[in-house]
Amino acid sequence: MFDTAIAGSLPKPAWLAETQKLWPQWKAQGAELAQAKLDATLLWIKAQEDAGLSVIGDGEQSRQHFVHGFLEQVEGIDFEHKVEMGIRNDRYKAMVPQVVAPLRLKGRVHEAEARFLRAHTTRRIKFTLPGPLTIVDTVADRCYGDRRTLAFAFAELLNQEALALQADGVDVIQFDEPAFNVYMSDAAEWGVAALERAAQGLKAQGMANGRSCTTAVHICYGYGIQANNDWKQTLGQEWRQYEQVFPALAKSSIDQVSLECIHSHVPPELMALLKGKDVMVGVIDVASEQVETPEEVADTIGRALQFVPREHLIACTNCGLAPMSRAVAEAKLAVLAQGAALADRRLAGR
Ligand code: ZN
Repeated sequence: MFDTAIAGSLPKPAWLAETQKLWPQWKAQGAELAQAKLDATLLWIKAQEDAGLSVIGDGEQSRQHFVHGFLEQVEGIDFEHKVEMGIRNDRYKAMVPQVVAPLRLKGRVHEAEARFLRAHTTRRIKFTLPGPLTIVDTVADRCYGDRRTLAFAFAELLNQEALALQADGVDVIQFDEPAFNVYMSDAAEWGVAALERAAQGLKAQGMANGRSCTTAVHICYGYGIQANNDWKQTLGQEWRQYEQVFPALAKSSIDQVSLECIHSHVPPELMALLKGKDVMVGVIDVASEQVETPEEVADTIGRALQFVPREHLIACTNCGLAPMSRAVAEAKLAVLAQGAALADRRLAGR
């Protein structure tokens, strides 16, 4: 059977936060909020298990945003005085915090939700962290002076948290690098190296204590928000951004690569550049509320199988489902598993 997993985020229930927003406001505070985050995590663990997914995530229920969730535990960042900045090469404006002093972790970032996730499912668990290049593109630097140096400073902090997550029992640690598709030469020249710094020691230490932690990177064309949909319109008939980054990733120590496939203009043959890697193929569209059919999902897996060996293929979503409605996200989880099962039956000739 094909493994099935989500890219990372899932919608937050209406009692936890504002719905269908990328930076939603929480609806509780303090201890009540902490409990509500774990309650929502439990709900999504159950939903993923019920759908039949083989790798389970926390749905990022405990973080307001996939980058800022990490940054909130980093010393040297001023969240009080956010500034407006064009991010992803000015695709959209966001209010971002500023790096004002040398960076240091205040403590653990995701201990509570990672341990909670481990305690509440016996299936393999995946945990996501933002990648160094994407973080650098989501903060205003007033201290380090150049993006590469800042990225490696963040990579060290990410590595501390990643090693701790491994010790918490996380099976797969995934770094999210949507910015790899925007700054392709930076990604190939130093972004992949920064990623490897963030993942350093994960597997080796895991093996020493009897566990092995898989490393992954997720590279996408963003959430299904208007600014991203407009940007995609400008990318032409063939999206070849991956072509510049995949060769560097193929040579890297990262085990798995998550990419967009269904309804995107990515030529499927680019997946062949990832020889030797596990490929998390996006078979669920996050830019449309239309729920795929199992046949569509199985067809997409079939196309990917022309370029990815069966044992290296994991069926996944194109990106996070955070800004979608909860009902649609639940339906998409179900069809992800159904489509993967159908693809498996087709291969077996049943
Ligand atoms: Zn994504």
